[in-house]
Amino acid sequence: MIIEPTDWEEIEFFNRSEWACSHCGRCEVDHTFVERIDELRRKYGKPLRISSGYRCPEWNAQVSSTGHDGPHTTGRAVDLAVSRGEAYQVLKIAMAMGGFSGIGIAQKGQGRFIHIDDLRDDETVGPRPTVWSY
Ligand SMILES: [Zn+2]
Repeated sequence: MIIEPTDWEEIEFFNRSEWACSHCGRCEVDHTFVERIDELRRKYGKPLRISSGYRCPEWNAQVSSTGHDGPHTTGRAVDLAVSRGEAYQVLKIAMAMGGFSGIGIAQKGQGRFIHIDDLRDDETVGPRPTVWSY
């Protein structure tokens, strides 16, 4: 499932650097998942800022309670940084698309971070489908 390098020519709205591990630059993302987030962006119709895409296990252990094997290490998870006003619409589109099984929301002042992944029960530390705050 992991494709490195992903064919970024097929991705309309994002580039590799937006998805790569901010610590080492590796970018072991799942191409189908990136395509689905690209579709979400297309439906949304406005820029979406990725705050975290792929994370290598080492980096994930430093920044997340999920340790070395959290959702972001699978290449099938993304955190989107949106404004308070945008969050509802982004979630609405994601839920309408279906197939996303993990939704996490973080609130920082007027900003929101929306985690989206499509992992299954047997692929992650937590049960799916699920919603959490972080
Ligand atoms: Zn890294």
